[in-house]
Amino acid sequence: MIFVMEFKVLKTDGSARTGLLRMARGIIHTPAFMPVGTNATVKAMTPEEMKEIGAEIILGNTYHLSLRPGHEIIRSVGGLHRFMNWDRPILTDSGGFQVYSLSALRDIEAEGVHFKSHVDGSMHFIGPAEAMAIQDALGADVAMVFDDCTPYPVAHEYALESLGRTLAWARTCKNLKKEGQALFGIVQGSAYRDLRIMSIEGLREIGFDGYAVGGLSVGEPKEVMHEMIRFTGSLLPGDSPRYLMGIGDLMDVLAAVEAGFDMFDCVIPTRNARNGTLFTSIGRISIKRTEFKADEGPLDPNCGCTTCKNYSRAYLRHLFLTREILSMRLNTMHNLYFYMEFFRKMRDAVSSGTFSEFRKKWEGVIRSEPGTEEGT
Ligand SMILES: [Zn+2]
Repeated sequence: MIFVMEFKVLKTDGSARTGLLRMARGIIHTPAFMPVGTNATVKAMTPEEMKEIGAEIILGNTYHLSLRPGHEIIRSVGGLHRFMNWDRPILTDSGGFQVYSLSALRDIEAEGVHFKSHVDGSMHFIGPAEAMAIQDALGADVAMVFDDCTPYPVAHEYALESLGRTLAWARTCKNLKKEGQALFGIVQGSAYRDLRIMSIEGLREIGFDGYAVGGLSVGEPKEVMHEMIRFTGSLLPGDSPRYLMGIGDLMDVLAAVEAGFDMFDCVIPTRNARNGTLFTSIGRISIKRTEFKADEGPLDPNCGCTTCKNYSRAYLRHLFLTREILSMRLNTMHNLYFYMEFFRKMRDAVSSGTFSEFRKKWEGVIRSEPGTEEGT
């Protein structure tokens, strides 16, 4: 039998935990942050740089890669790892969320979803079988089941009907699971506790290598999101990795780690970097603020990244205002380094039983951040 993955919890602190996820292409320390490489690239970063900052796994997007350049093209050139020169693990999402969030038109039926491409308006179809075939062509280390993401708010009756589809599709994906590829189930059920329970029970019955929670951060109030994070976290199997999909705001991450989640992905550090919003040890700052005009100091004196070691706030502000390509490169390098360090320190805190102090400290920093509004 081909080795797929092995997950071991090393230390717990309340419900928070640190662990090791061993895969054929490398070890992932959890809680782990997975930078998003939508188009077979983590925007503005080379894979070599991603390794330098300590990224152990990245995420690829089934929806985007199947439209451009096409998954069969990626298969023909040796798979996604070789295509982008990344030899560590890759998790691919199944396309369910992108079909929900990006396509101008979608028509859901029992077998899958017809949708209009956001690129050129052409019509496509993805169902569980197609999602598994695409993730096989890409050569993902971790594949995700194809799910039906519901909007918020949604009527209980519709959420129940949608959950029926998601569970049926999860079963189809499990039946098509490839040898050597891990497969994670996705919990849906909107903000309804009974449906989240039904979803988790249904997925456990099918059996997956890991369990993800989807359908959050789709417009619900933060209290609702946090309640669902706590609720689902307490019900997911303890011996498998628990992945909170698409959520990477640090306040949400802290709440989710406290609830026992192990894996995260989000475009926040990379997207914010390109918009000039940078994470620092005193909170987020907007690099375009006038106060940085002649500021010779580093972006964050407590950061060891290439950007902070070599460039001033004045220079970063100038590059941003003149829309130089280097601005995106340096800002992204810093934000991703900051996220990797944040997760490393968070793992240390859980290991040493000081996670609640870590959480309190960072919540204080985030609440008192100097602000991100644009200066004049
Ligand atoms: Zn830095």
